[in-house]
Amino acid sequence: MRLSKDEIERLKESVNIADVARHLGMNPVMERVRCLFPERHSHGDRTPSMTLNTKNNTFKCWVCDDVFGDVISLVQMNKKCTFPEALEWLARFAGSKIKAPPKSYAQPLDPVEAPELGLGGNLKTQAAKPELNFNLRTQVLKVLIENSDDISGACSKYLGKRKIFKKTWDLMGLKQIGDYQKMSDLLKRRFTEQELQDSGLFNESGHLRFYRHLLLLPYYNSKGDPLYLQARAIEPEVQPKELSLKGRITIPYNSSALNQKPGVVYLCEGVIDTLTLIEKGFSAVGVPGAKNFKPEWAPGFKNKKVFLVFDSDEAGREGAIKTIQILKDAGIDADNLSLPEGMDINSWFGGS
Ligand SMILES: [Zn+2]
Repeated sequence: MRLSKDEIERLKESVNIADVARHLGMNPVMERVRCLFPERHSHGDRTPSMTLNTKNNTFKCWVCDDVFGDVISLVQMNKKCTFPEALEWLARFAGSKIKAPPKSYAQPLDPVEAPELGLGGNLKTQAAKPELNFNLRTQVLKVLIENSDDISGACSKYLGKRKIFKKTWDLMGLKQIGDYQKMSDLLKRRFTEQELQDSGLFNESGHLRFYRHLLLLPYYNSKGDPLYLQARAIEPEVQPKELSLKGRITIPYNSSALNQKPGVVYLCEGVIDTLTLIEKGFSAVGVPGAKNFKPEWAPGFKNKKVFLVFDSDEAGREGAIKTIQILKDAGIDADNLSLPEGMDINSWFGGS
């Protein structure tokens, strides 16, 4: 196969090095893989020394000085083949990736990549049969978040008004879409239209749904993988204010606070309220909407004394009663904290 320099560059850009590594059987976890020469490492490089840089599509072993390169070198070193053979393999991979039906993502990619919800107990049984597009969703979300911008401008003003500041944005990995068109194009280069729709990020007409919802509120698990996301509009006239991903809500917001150690945790309605309490130094977890607490999340609250601080309106009160019942049924100590009528935790702390 003969490719021009430009065609080679385009081929390199059309793939993601983590996807390539996965296809080569290297099982990347958090952009780390075992070195291509494990025999040079103690314990066969059981603690992976090689990192994949998905921004530049390069890799590097932190121990071996001669193990680094671009995505073509990765194929060459892995398959011990020539440059033209690596190109041919990559072209086939890129081609099949473009045409692959979404069900190529249907199986968990490897045991480590199977859903890790950061919660205890009977979630394991759920993890055994993940939603069809579960891994896909995390992969798309990772690309979205890696290519998003840090909070600034109008988003920072919006959060500041709600008394949620930078240390919390950073701690909770909040991001914003800087350039809608660029983001949309980039996602379309990395994934098929079907994959983008299955992930819940794109609508049926093939558009990124967050056109005016640019503030990204990712739901990370304890390993830092994004499992779910809500996006918020910061212009007051936009309705609805928040967009959620379509499909199963797999974890509550800030589930890392559910560490199974004895202590108090505040359960909030919505991400903004949760961030408000985190800003103030409280241990807080959020449900996306008063009625959205899932019974399978209850075991995650083991050893916690849970205080519910849902909105003081009819939906909030109803949701709180239901949620407390679910928690109590699971043997979790849960109580309601009532705010004055019409208030939520953010306005209680002076947010506007
Ligand atoms: Zn090495």
